[in-house]
Amino acid sequence: MRKPFIAGNWKMNNTVGESVKLARELLDAGSFKNKVLIAPPFTSLSEVSKIVKGTELLLGAQNMASVESGAHTGEISVLMLKDLDVNAVILGHSERRHIYGESNEIINTKVKLALHHGLDVILCVGETLEERESGNAEAVVKKQLVEGLKDVSPADIAKVVVAYEPVWAIGTGKTASPEDAQAIHLFIRNEVKAIYGEKEASELIIQYGGSVKPGNVVTLMAQEDIDGALVGGAALKAETFVPIMDFNK
Ligand code: PEP
Repeated sequence: MRKPFIAGNWKMNNTVGESVKLARELLDAGSFKNKVLIAPPFTSLSEVSKIVKGTELLLGAQNMASVESGAHTGEISVLMLKDLDVNAVILGHSERRHIYGESNEIINTKVKLALHHGLDVILCVGETLEERESGNAEAVVKKQLVEGLKDVSPADIAKVVVAYEPVWAIGTGKTASPEDAQAIHLFIRNEVKAIYGEKEASELIIQYGGSVKPGNVVTLMAQEDIDGALVGGAALKAETFVPIMDFNK
């Protein structure tokens, strides 16, 4: 039985004060029947960490450096995230891939580094509209998955969540139909089965991301292989995120 996992990616939004307020609102209003994580911007992690400590609300980071320390101006290390009791890190988000040019190779390095230091990983995969329309969605997702998980041990795969986020559905108001999303989720599970085996695949949490809202979360989550959601825009307000966190309350 896979426990639903809802994650909110706040992206480059919210000052420290706004972050603290939103985290408190979620703690007050949520039932935490499902697993829930928020990923504030780096500058808010320290204060939000103090608020979520000892609660059921998990803390995520939106990215991290591919090396532990050193001359990397502007980067944030896995050690700094651990120092703030961050539970998980989102890696390979499409904005990192497409705006900042992160390759599967660099994402794989980050995945292994995060796992090595005991952080959970949300590995994002997903095709662009052009790739979908040319019939390459599965091939693109497979490459991101296989290269992103390269040399990740069977023991560590239990600490990885895969988020399927079709790039054309992120922040656009367009959602993949529940059936189209389900088809790719099943494809991902089968790919993980081919690499790791039946047990690992059946336990893998696969989130859907791309304009998830209170109005579409229930039908998406009703799909067999959709186990959670990675939410951007609708994660920025308690009034829209709480109904998603508690879609099955
Ligand atoms: C995201 O940030 O991963 C995302 C899916 O954004 P949105 O929900 O706004 O489409």
